[in-house]
Amino acid sequence: MRHVRTVDRSVSRSELTDALGVSRSKTSLEVGRLLEAGLLVEDGLAESEGGRRSSLLRIPWSAGLIAAVDLGATSIDVALSTLGSELVAHQGESADVKAGPKAVLRRVKDLLAGLVEEQGASRDDVRAIGVGVPGPVEQASGLLRSPPIMPGWDRFPIRDAFAGDYAAPVFVDNDVNVMALGEHWGGVGKGVDNLLFVKIGTGIGGGIIADGHLYRGVQGCAGDIGHICADPDGPVCSCGSRGCLEAMAAAPAIVQKAERCARDGMSPILSEVLGQKGELSARDVGEAASLGDYRALEIIRESGRLVGGVLATLVSTLNPSLIVIGGGVANIGHSLLAEIRSTVYRRSLPLATRNLPIVLSELDQVAGVTGASVLAAEGVLQTTRAG
Ligand SMILES: [Zn+2]
Repeated sequence: MRHVRTVDRSVSRSELTDALGVSRSKTSLEVGRLLEAGLLVEDGLAESEGGRRSSLLRIPWSAGLIAAVDLGATSIDVALSTLGSELVAHQGESADVKAGPKAVLRRVKDLLAGLVEEQGASRDDVRAIGVGVPGPVEQASGLLRSPPIMPGWDRFPIRDAFAGDYAAPVFVDNDVNVMALGEHWGGVGKGVDNLLFVKIGTGIGGGIIADGHLYRGVQGCAGDIGHICADPDGPVCSCGSRGCLEAMAAAPAIVQKAERCARDGMSPILSEVLGQKGELSARDVGEAASLGDYRALEIIRESGRLVGGVLATLVSTLNPSLIVIGGGVANIGHSLLAEIRSTVYRRSLPLATRNLPIVLSELDQVAGVTGASVLAAEGVLQTTRAG
């Protein structure tokens, strides 16, 4: 089952035999068992390599569904996928994670129930649930630990919150780890075994794929780059430290700098938008920059320089072959990506950056749910006999 998952298409029995390194008869026996259990179906015929053409196998919808949840600081995305992590339904809406776990998870469960019903499925069809959350998750317990931007969520048992409604196991991880999994599975990072995913939104975080696997470190904190110090004399961060990258370069910092410029009359465009709306968003700053507003452009470039500086250090540490930038701020204008690129290329060793593309996420809004599905599908296949 796991092997069928990892190929991007239907797979033949002989390919499975080769990949698994077991005898043809053992493959046939196992495939027969999975076909009988409805976990695999036959799907057309393989290209002939001489002799009898064998039929292709794939994981059907009816083998079970994965419920995928991606919680952001300001959004909820839920999706259903096959065990092969093919999305069958997706719904997203804005939300405030500060509303606390009870209210947010109630809404998540309502949205999921709606999708399950829409598919003509039942809760029993859900075989596993994957959840990405915007804070540090202790791997062993699946609990959030002192998440800076999620007051009220510290040690909240997210897994238990689904127990009354679903019999499925729940897998919880940090949202950026989950997005890295998604990008590696089905996005621009597909087939790239050493990549770094960076999310720039309300917070900043990183997910590390090393040798084809998500690297979590000992407690699950690996890649939490938002709290790397970018300036020891910088502003105080939500985590309590001073000058964290997140406090200086993420959306709230961009907005704060822009509002200051607008009030001081240093940016006519930003002043006008602030006057109209009463507040600014990172997107407004991006739009002002695209209209040629020098101050807005400088604010975005400064974020790019700060992120790039931290990434240059990571490139020296990890030597990835791809960096993918995602999150709500990633798309506010080309100047952010351009500044990140030039900083990384300027400050890393030439050998490390000789062939290092730095690109925007392809999956964008569905990177999180795709990754949450991968997390849950791989988790459940590892823990059940079906694996
Ligand atoms: Zn911090």
